[in-house]
Amino acid sequence: MNTTVQDPGQALLTITQRPPAVFVEGQGSWLVDESGRRYLDLVQGWAVNSLGHSPALVAQALAAQAQRLVNPGPAFYNRPMLDLAARLVEASCFSRVFLASSGAEANEGAVKLARRWGQKMRGGAHEIVGFDGGFHGRTLAMMAASGKPGWGTLYPPMPTGFAKARFNDLRSVEAALTPASVAVMIELVQGEAGINIADPGFVRELRALTHERGLLLIVDEVQTGIGRCGAAFAHELYDIKPDVMTLGKGLGGGVPLAALLCTERLNCFEPGDQGGTYCGNPLMAAVGLAVVNEVCREDFLAQVRARAQQLSTGLQALVQAHGLVGERGVGLLRALELPSARAEAVVAAARGLQPHGLLLNAPRPTLLRLMPALNIGEDEVALALQLLDRALHAALHDATESSPAHPQPRLLPC
Ligand SMILES: *Cc1c(COP(=O)(O)O)cnc(C)c1O
Repeated sequence: MNTTVQDPGQALLTITQRPPAVFVEGQGSWLVDESGRRYLDLVQGWAVNSLGHSPALVAQALAAQAQRLVNPGPAFYNRPMLDLAARLVEASCFSRVFLASSGAEANEGAVKLARRWGQKMRGGAHEIVGFDGGFHGRTLAMMAASGKPGWGTLYPPMPTGFAKARFNDLRSVEAALTPASVAVMIELVQGEAGINIADPGFVRELRALTHERGLLLIVDEVQTGIGRCGAAFAHELYDIKPDVMTLGKGLGGGVPLAALLCTERLNCFEPGDQGGTYCGNPLMAAVGLAVVNEVCREDFLAQVRARAQQLSTGLQALVQAHGLVGERGVGLLRALELPSARAEAVVAAARGLQPHGLLLNAPRPTLLRLMPALNIGEDEVALALQLLDRALHAALHDATESSPAHPQPRLLPC
């Protein structure tokens, strides 16, 4: 072994190139590695830690529930499962909930539900129309449902029954529809593709079109839901009522929890059609209930919008100062577009800043994505903007600081 930094992940199956830091602690917007170095975290597990790292609320819900009942099994009711489902129904326009452990699992459930409904009500219609650039998870079927370039050829053969349309283009949705179509599945803000925001007019027309053709509208709010966009759910900002919604990421505040929500008429699974060992387990459901109770309060959401405004204004100033392409986003799901393919260099420079680093994500070579904790403080947003200013300087303008300590780090995309 040489004297340079060793890869600590020798025993792990290689799935991505990680920076060498090993994280041991987190509090709010801050992460600490084994050497004691601190990082201001604007990644937050890919928009998962809605209340930041190790929030007391999550720790208390976990500890209290772990001492009472961890898992009686999905074939029995438990109190947190019932309470979380009721709370989600109360907070949304839906009336039925299926609890799962990951966004991909919730989305698979949505596709199964749409196909089951198609068998019963629409003469076997089963095709799902998704969008170019869409991201719905990493199971084989959700890779097929996603519109991520290259994913169609990675693990052939792929499941069939997934058509694609262009985002914000109603004509292309109409062109993708066939008599076998049963649903359209959309992220209202495409997260993985780089914060592509659906046009309000397009979304309203899409809702009207799906109504008119007897199709279901499935909104994947795994990334946009639970306060991330400054409302409990992003579809509220578009003033539409979807037929199906999926949640994940922020719902568990860091623990594996996801949900599929639908209207009463879609309550059409027969017993045994759908399930899973961990579905509705009380340990995760208790956390989800605590998170929803905290985040879906109007005063909390108002704070999210205030921090989003502060972040957006600061990013716009950086766009001016550094000659960047622009800033965009909804709520605390924001992106900064660079004039050149230097996003990874900015991420590395930010991580290496002194006295503490800044953690950012680069979903595309020219794009930085920011998804801080929803309860990030005003002073922390100000500090993040200062650190980002320095990182942009180092990576875009200053040749001596522009080579990162660890070449081409590639954080795992969600
Ligand atoms: C992250 C994500 C998923 C997948 O969630 P997992 O929990 O990783 O399976 C699905 N849809 C969207 C929009 C996401 O951002």
